[in-house]
Amino acid sequence: MTTHVTTDQIQQLFSRHRLRCTRQRRALYEALISTRSHPTADQLFQKVAHSEQDISLATVYNTLEAFCRAGLAQKLLGRGGSTRYDAATHNHLHLRDAQSDTVTDVPDSIGERILKNIPQHILTDLEKELGFRITQLQIELVGQFADTKDAANLAVNRAMEASSS
Ligand SMILES: [Zn+2]
Repeated sequence: MTTHVTTDQIQQLFSRHRLRCTRQRRALYEALISTRSHPTADQLFQKVAHSEQDISLATVYNTLEAFCRAGLAQKLLGRGGSTRYDAATHNHLHLRDAQSDTVTDVPDSIGERILKNIPQHILTDLEKELGFRITQLQIELVGQFADTKDAANLAVNRAMEASSS
């Protein structure tokens, strides 16, 4: 996932996902993909409100829901029932700092190793037993960084990695 996409690329992406492309939707999507912090609707609203002065919080909520339905974003539950949004929709793991409630992506190189080691037959058994089709794995590792600088460094490294890919 790159953090620098052109207006054309966003238009193409929206059209591939059958989503009408408006200026507000584009601004919101740009705001969402430019951060790895898994923001809430309110945080995204604060971010776009200065450039999109006529946007309302309700529009932000509705647009984020539309992104999720179209497969352009996924929802994560935050503390106290708040919802966070993530433009990375591939299977990936999250670290949640229990104290600050910040959410960081587990680097894919490690996350993929964990996901690969989940026995497929257990998931298949679960699907059969409960009559439930698994479409996505969301795993959250809750804990805390030994040093708060580690959290900041990880976020910076991820951002650099994302912008160079
Ligand atoms: Zn994520």
